[in-house]
Amino acid sequence: MTDSGRNRTPYSGIRWEKVHRIAGTTHMHCENQAELTAYTSQGLEFAAVSNYYPSAPWFPLASVRKNTFKLRQKSFLRQGKLFKEEIDFRKERSLWEASDREKYLPFPEDEGEKIFTDIPAGLIEAPNAEHAWFAGITPYLHVCSPGCTLHTSHFDRARKYGLCEHGFQLGFPLPWKEGFKALLDTLIVPNGGGLVIAHPHESHFSLEELCGFLDFDSRVLGIEVYNHNSSCTYNDSAETEWDYILSTNRQCFGFFVQDHLMKGRVWKGRNILLAEERTMESCLQACRKGNFYGAVLGTGYAFDYINFDGRTLTARCNREGVFQLCSRCGVIMDSAGKEFSFTVPENERSKHVYLRLMAWEPDTWERLYTQPVMLLP
Ligand SMILES: [Zn+2]
Ligand SMILES: [Zn+2]
Repeated sequence: MTDSGRNRTPYSGIRWEKVHRIAGTTHMHCENQAELTAYTSQGLEFAAVSNYYPSAPWFPLASVRKNTFKLRQKSFLRQGKLFKEEIDFRKERSLWEASDREKYLPFPEDEGEKIFTDIPAGLIEAPNAEHAWFAGITPYLHVCSPGCTLHTSHFDRARKYGLCEHGFQLGFPLPWKEGFKALLDTLIVPNGGGLVIAHPHESHFSLEELCGFLDFDSRVLGIEVYNHNSSCTYNDSAETEWDYILSTNRQCFGFFVQDHLMKGRVWKGRNILLAEERTMESCLQACRKGNFYGAVLGTGYAFDYINFDGRTLTARCNREGVFQLCSRCGVIMDSAGKEFSFTVPENERSKHVYLRLMAWEPDTWERLYTQPVMLLP
């Protein structure tokens, strides 16, 4: 791990017998107790809720009430400028002309009831939000921000309260580099968390654009390789984009996420964080270091360990399955069983550039994805 770049050899130094495996996702909309229960009853242990309108962390969940974000925000955009100060919307409205006030609904009198009344004890939480609508680029650039506390956009998407008409802007209408920097400036754990490019396949980014986001700052951690909600438009997997990026010798972590819960509320797309402690800090540090692996279904099929010593990649799963090893050359090895091992021939490093392992359990259709290990300096 270096401070200046994304960790090129995730999993090094993990004490597998002691490490906590914590199921979470960096992209999950969750707006009521029923949705939270749907997640937690399916094993969610690390909640980094990424709601928008406004794009503001619902953190901690116990603090969020029905009207919390209709009364105030900790930062906001107005007339093309980001203000990192709290805005009290009722106070703001009191400054408007009376005739102007009449045109719009008044802001609520109070915060209202708590939204979450049954938060499981032990649920680990981190601030997060999905930020969107940057200036000068496709509106489909959405970025999740685990560990960041910035608030952008606002709640008045339906334009009933007059916020847009008084200069408050929806989305994050600054050039994306300024936006990313502002987000990263609010990280609450300096060596944890970062930004994740949401649903890159659905957003139809070019390889050049994706590399541009990653090159901006090493705390842009990676891309969503699996976004379940995008299966509605057949865009759920960005595995091809991931391989393209890795082929350029750029480390890029792959995240596995739900996004919006769909009808029936089955949670698909989870990151199994390998955290030293059951704390927010440790979970965010695991995200930063790439110490996690992806699971699509969450059936309990798991890696017992993954290790790369610089030459040999070894892994073991808790149940029989099929391993597939991927490099710049495509799938370079298949094997069945619980154990996996591959040694890179010294003269083939430039050919392969990276290695990443997938494990598939035919009985359950579960698929696991390690993070890549990079073979070149
Ligand atoms: Zn999105
Ligand atoms: Zn989303």
